[in-house]
Amino acid sequence: MTLSGDASDLVGPCGLRLEKALSLLEQAGWVVPTDLVPDSAPWLQWIVDGLCDLSSRDALTGLANRRQFEAAIARELDRVARIGEPALLLVADIDHFKRINDSFGHAAGDVVIRSVASVLQECVRPMDLVARVGGEEFAIILPNCPHVFGQTVAERIRQRVAATPVAVIGGQQITVTVSIGGAFAPQWVRSSPALWSERADQQLYRAKSEGRNRACLDMPPLTVVSAEEKSLLFAGVGPSDENSDSGFGEFVPNNTP
Ligand code: GH3
Ligand code: MG
Ligand code: MG
Repeated sequence: MTLSGDASDLVGPCGLRLEKALSLLEQAGWVVPTDLVPDSAPWLQWIVDGLCDLSSRDALTGLANRRQFEAAIARELDRVARIGEPALLLVADIDHFKRINDSFGHAAGDVVIRSVASVLQECVRPMDLVARVGGEEFAIILPNCPHVFGQTVAERIRQRVAATPVAVIGGQQITVTVSIGGAFAPQWVRSSPALWSERADQQLYRAKSEGRNRACLDMPPLTVVSAEEKSLLFAGVGPSDENSDSGFGEFVPNNTP
């Protein structure tokens, strides 16, 4: 169903006023499943789930928003500190985007942002998180991304954006490029999202200052816990993880041609 009856009459269980929530969901294209009985617990759960989804997404692109990104980066850092998997953070910024707005108008700029967002989303694995973290700025968290693949992944994203023309107002096609900065999370140690982001941002700044339309990555930090220390730490608690790097699957984006 869409909204049933007069929206102003929608008072749910316990006297909750839900008209605003339902109209927000409807505006975002959510349609209440027909098998949900209004005022039932599953119906209310559907509304709560929908609002959670809306509050974690960017309205223009549908990507994760900054709120979801901040929660995800904190979770990922925690995982890396506990498990020691390599995780890569990429930040991408559209080059000379102001010129696009100035030449073609703000609406065309929005079309470009949406196009870049969908290219980024298509370039990564389902487990990776792509977020819009600013006007024409994006961040991608890639868990379990081996160091040796970092530059290749960033380059592929950069090239894919540059190879995807965007049709703007009047059918005119324009080429858009991004600069990308990247940094791996320090493994086996507690760090902070701010420090990790800052290292990626510094690389983005480098990519911009070296001419844009390029990807620059921070060198992976050296493992601060030696193999000997690790074997002492984990002696008797499970199989040796000395070869844990060799257990990572091959990095295959979900739409590799
Ligand atoms: P650089 O290559 O150094 O990144 O240059 P730039 O022009 O991309 O960067 P700058 O920070 O100078 O300009 C970014 C512009 O993005 C300014 C702002 O008006 C525009 N912008 C921010 N958010 C939006 C949005 O949601 N839609 C549109 N169309 N423009 C936006
Ligand atoms: Mg910017
Ligand atoms: Mg920019």
